Amino acid sequence: MKVSAYAFLAFGALGLSLGSTTPKQIAIIGGGASGSSAAMYIAQAMQEASIPCQITIYEKNSRLGGRVQSFNVPATNLIVEAGASIFVNINYNLMDAASQFGLNVIDAGIEQSLANPPNAIWNQTGIEYQTTGNEAVDTAGMLERFGAYTLQTVSNFVSEIVTKYMQIYGATTTAFNTINDMLVFMGVQDTTTTTAQAALDAFPDLNQLFLTERVDISTRVNYGQSLAQIHTMGMAISMAAGSSGGLQIQAGNQRIFERMAAASGASISLNTPVASVAKQTTSVGDTQYVVTTKTGKATTFDAVVMASPPNTYHDAAIQWKNLTSGAYLSNPGALSPPVNYYLIHVTFVAGVLRPSYFNRGTPTLNMNIIPLENYSTQGGSTVLPWTSLSHEYVLTTTDTFNICKYNKNSTSVITPSAVFTVTKLFSPQPLSESVLNQMYSIRLWTKSVQHYAYPNLVPRSGSNMPPMTVDTQLYFPNAFEPFISTMETSTVSSRNVANLIVRDFGGSS
Ligand SMILES: Cc1cc2nc3c(=O)[nH]c(=O)nc-3n(C[C@H](O)[C@H](O)[C@H](O)COP(=O)(O)OP(=O)(O)OC[C@H]3O[C@@H](n4cnc5c(N)ncnc54)[C@H](O)[C@@H]3O)c2cc1C
Repeated sequence: MKVSAYAFLAFGALGLSLGSTTPKQIAIIGGGASGSSAAMYIAQAMQEASIPCQITIYEKNSRLGGRVQSFNVPATNLIVEAGASIFVNINYNLMDAASQFGLNVIDAGIEQSLANPPNAIWNQTGIEYQTTGNEAVDTAGMLERFGAYTLQTVSNFVSEIVTKYMQIYGATTTAFNTINDMLVFMGVQDTTTTTAQAALDAFPDLNQLFLTERVDISTRVNYGQSLAQIHTMGMAISMAAGSSGGLQIQAGNQRIFERMAAASGASISLNTPVASVAKQTTSVGDTQYVVTTKTGKATTFDAVVMASPPNTYHDAAIQWKNLTSGAYLSNPGALSPPVNYYLIHVTFVAGVLRPSYFNRGTPTLNMNIIPLENYSTQGGSTVLPWTSLSHEYVLTTTDTFNICKYNKNSTSVITPSAVFTVTKLFSPQPLSESVLNQMYSIRLWTKSVQHYAYPNLVPRSGSNMPPMTVDTQLYFPNAFEPFISTMETSTVSSRNVANLIVRDFGGSS
């Protein structure tokens, strides 16, 4: 039945099927996870409330997806994720959408021909500790290394928080005015006010080795922050993501958001940065916004959804005009502590790693490697220029051959002893040629992208989160990010924005 609901969406969004009322004009700035899902949920909710609307998505880039960026390794069918790479099966909005759009959801490991790859921890001189990739053996190893009490206590604590968070799915038609209202509804206000370290310290006798090797590494990998910096919810989400098996869209995670945007029936303007948004009041006292693109095209809307982090974090800053004094988007830096986004460089290499770089003799390094030492992906490392290395694919000879040909490299490098892989590196700075040459004996293809990936998840109270409604009929789903920043939570927040819009236009949400 849901499929037919989507089929009708396009007509509702175009204002064609809902009588003579003038459709509400809604602008969405940004076509990432937030903007694309907002378009779909707004179209759906407005149609259900019988309020005709027309939606326009403005996206500065030539593609939808934003921080979700999927592309092919050249000359192969292999897809890599340069932004958000995994979700989990309790991410109901993503799972639902994948099912509605017929997108195949796969285990991240299986697609990469490295089911359950070993994880290794790097100390200052080389690999100190590694899992085997065999679940039974690794579980026994964890019990021995960390003890049952610590494993059980932390697991219970995390699942208690996640269970509370999941209550948000029982309120999919509720319009929450603020992030704080959402936190109160879920009963998780205390998860943002303390550091994860303080929350874990409240349990007596936890094995500190587990906190260092597992919990702290998990928060650093997911959010670039240590336990002493990140709030408790950030830790719980990082641990939950690590423990329940990562999923991906087989055709690339970006597809899910392209399909959401298409299903909304919105008019989609790519390569169209918005330069300014000016609030105005009509002769009958209604609020409207004039959205002007960088090329000077001005269009008037009844509501605007700003579906992107604020100005400081993208190269298409927006001038906000006539907003109510002190409105967040005009001056996001006024929030204390400020919501700072972490810049991450993502580098892919198709080539051959040098085992000697990792103090190892064996040529096969099909594992994910995370340094143990205490650094953040923002601050960087004192001894290593990269903060995680993951194996995406072990290349077949055919793929290696095709990449060689594509790059006009000599195929004579394809010897039986050379293990060609596609690896992904995160680093706080661009990786220099000299560093890459130290790490790889052969490089057939190297590609780097950068993203302002996620905000610092420092402790702050629910009432000190950015506003979901910035001004009359001006909405900001990214207000959710200092609480949790993921693809799924972008959709959760955007669904709330859709409910707010319906309510503000007199619907019954
Ligand atoms: C490297 C990396 C790894 C990650 N890993 C995961 C993960 O494994 N799982 C997970 O769930 N999440 C992960 N995330 C986080 C996830 O990607 C984000 O939480 C989510 O994609 C945010 O989506 P958004 O739409 O709110 O913002 P964005 O994706 O930033 O979208 C904003 C959009 O607005 C556009 N825009 C900005 N200014 C303008 C303007 N003036 N005019 C027009 N358009 C404009 C931008 O081009 C962009 O497309 C990761 C992120 C990164 C970068």
